[in-house]
Amino acid sequence: MNELMKGKRGLVMGVANDHSIAWGIAQKLHAQGAELAFTYQGEAFGRRVKPLADKVDARLIVPCDVEDSASVASVFETLQSEWGSIDFLVHAIGFSDKNELKGLYADTTRDNFVRTMVISCYSFTEVAREAAKIMPNGGSLLTLTYAGSVRVMPNYNVMGVAKAGLEASVRYLANDYGPRDIRVNAISAGPVRTLAGAGIADARHMYTYQQRNSPLRRNIGIEEVGNSALYLLSEMASGVTGEIHYVDSGYHITSMPTLDELKN
Ligand code: NAD
Repeated sequence: MNELMKGKRGLVMGVANDHSIAWGIAQKLHAQGAELAFTYQGEAFGRRVKPLADKVDARLIVPCDVEDSASVASVFETLQSEWGSIDFLVHAIGFSDKNELKGLYADTTRDNFVRTMVISCYSFTEVAREAAKIMPNGGSLLTLTYAGSVRVMPNYNVMGVAKAGLEASVRYLANDYGPRDIRVNAISAGPVRTLAGAGIADARHMYTYQQRNSPLRRNIGIEEVGNSALYLLSEMASGVTGEIHYVDSGYHITSMPTLDELKN
């Protein structure tokens, strides 16, 4: 079976390099026959994204900074003029000032709170609205979240608050667009070593802790997020919307460290 996405076209937002979760997703979509377009944030990222896009035969590679609504609108104008319509969208974008991804959440500044919310939460609502305009035949929208939305994770701070808002947005958008057969879901990924992940203070300790204490006793890889994304973006998940799907080796179901951890 290698044609789950045959005849489907979609946009992948958030590839920074070949460690990006969005890249893990893009490769799986391509392997199943999807035609992909990519966005990149600024020319420095563009130089890394273009060779990756080549590897998956993508022709449409457009700049987009989600802090700028005109930039977002222009991406969808390009998609409409080149393709007419799209079938799916992947939003794998997040940002907060790394100086506030440590210490107390209570010390979050107003400016960084707003910026984090705009980039990491509101941008999904904005791109969903633009994408829905060019999804006349229904479609599937996917964003990426983290369990710091529902449980306190050290140093995740304002990103946890933004992810809580993002997950609520998934539910409201799913309800808004359900009548048009546009499904909206999120994957809550376990920790992955990426550029964004490296911005969180002491991330490596979280990584090894979750590795030792998850039911599967390992961390997940971007190809595993890609597999679950493929399911949610394809007809395999035609009855699934408004869902937060965990791809985290089961860490979120645990209530305490393993006995091995406690005894050592
Ligand atoms: P990454 O650094 O590879 O990707 C983050 C992307 O966000 C980059 O491509 C960056 O260009 C983009 N971005 C940031 N600000 C932007 C802006 N203003 N406009 C446009 N794009 C912007 O890291 P990643 O870990 O692959 O992150 C992808 C998503 O996965 C994020 O939402 C992140 O919060 C989420 N996530 C990451 C982890 C993890 O441990 N790495 C775990 C769960 C969820």
